[in-house]
Amino acid sequence: MPRPILATVSLPSLTHNLAVVATGLDRSRPPARPAPFIWAVVKANAYGHGILSAVAAFSRADGLAMLDLDEAIQCRAAGWTRPILLLEGFFEAADLPVIDHYGLTVTVHTREQLDMLRLAAPCTPIDAMIKLDSGMGRLGFPPDAYRDAYRVAGDLQRRGILGRLGKMTHFARADDDPDATGRQLQVFGNVTDGLPGRVSVCNSAATLTAGFWARLPAGVEQWVRPGICLYGASPFASRPAADFDLRPGMTLSAELISVRRIPAGYRVGYGHLFSAPRPMTIGVVCCGYADGYPRHAPTGTPVTVGGVRTRVLGRVSMDMLAVDLTAVPNARVGLRVVLWGEGGPTVDEVAASCGTIGYELLCAVAPRVPRKVVSN
Ligand SMILES: *Cc1c(COP(=O)(O)O)cnc(C)c1O
Repeated sequence: MPRPILATVSLPSLTHNLAVVATGLDRSRPPARPAPFIWAVVKANAYGHGILSAVAAFSRADGLAMLDLDEAIQCRAAGWTRPILLLEGFFEAADLPVIDHYGLTVTVHTREQLDMLRLAAPCTPIDAMIKLDSGMGRLGFPPDAYRDAYRVAGDLQRRGILGRLGKMTHFARADDDPDATGRQLQVFGNVTDGLPGRVSVCNSAATLTAGFWARLPAGVEQWVRPGICLYGASPFASRPAADFDLRPGMTLSAELISVRRIPAGYRVGYGHLFSAPRPMTIGVVCCGYADGYPRHAPTGTPVTVGGVRTRVLGRVSMDMLAVDLTAVPNARVGLRVVLWGEGGPTVDEVAASCGTIGYELLCAVAPRVPRKVVSN
């Protein structure tokens, strides 16, 4: 029997979450304005859910966005014919024929990329989003270099190297600071004013902020780039995903492989971090940091055992962790444990207890964890 740990990916939940996003955009649509198109972000193996699962579940998205050329090729091989946006663009000139062959859309964020395009062999024109650093301080042309970069992109378009052009930026604080986001939007508006092409600015947090996208000028084709919310986790520290009717895309479950009675004062796990205040029943779960469960999860991190919400005890080991069974009646070996997802704590609750975000936990589920994809 394989070790009883499982990551279950629910395609209907992923599809539902995409529909929630699409409906939300449609509802916040000013009269006579079309809702934005959706690039479903599937980077990092679809936030740990499996790229092919995402292709199947997001069949109604207008496009997919990711980083890795190999993942993009897998999507094409799986039959995805709509646009695919490469969020970091390309890394060397040798990528360009591949991008051309698979009809991918690139992000262009540096001079070096423009230089590579200038020297490119004739190809089918490649669609490009020219990225502005409007205040994220990461990728993109700075405001004072952007219009010149756009002019160069226009020249490349006239030479038939680039196809459709668009304007793009990314927000640093769409999840927690509307003023900072408003300032970035202002910079974006000023710098790109009058330049032709479609526009893409919104991640999950900005997409879920009702009406935010409608603050951009009307009459321009707009594409949003939601990621984390499609997987049923919240981009906001202070608002749970259920507030938006989002459903967990992944459930990480395992089983009790040992149930023990320990005396008062007995210490549990590496470092003896937990000491029993009284005689108690504890359980050992076959899930550890080598499965992707965070090692820094402290005592008290929520976990559900046999349908009862309880807590992790002591330090997480490589292959196991200990749980408090005080409140779990009839605890026995083989009882189901939900680390996060359906029937358990949300991945965001576990992440908050560990001082991180749901994104990190979902992406970190290890390849050794068996996966089950549920299609109905
Ligand atoms: C990851 C990413 C997104 C999606 O972000 P979420 O917070 O997961 O919605 C959008 N745009 C870019 C450029 C990204 O890198």
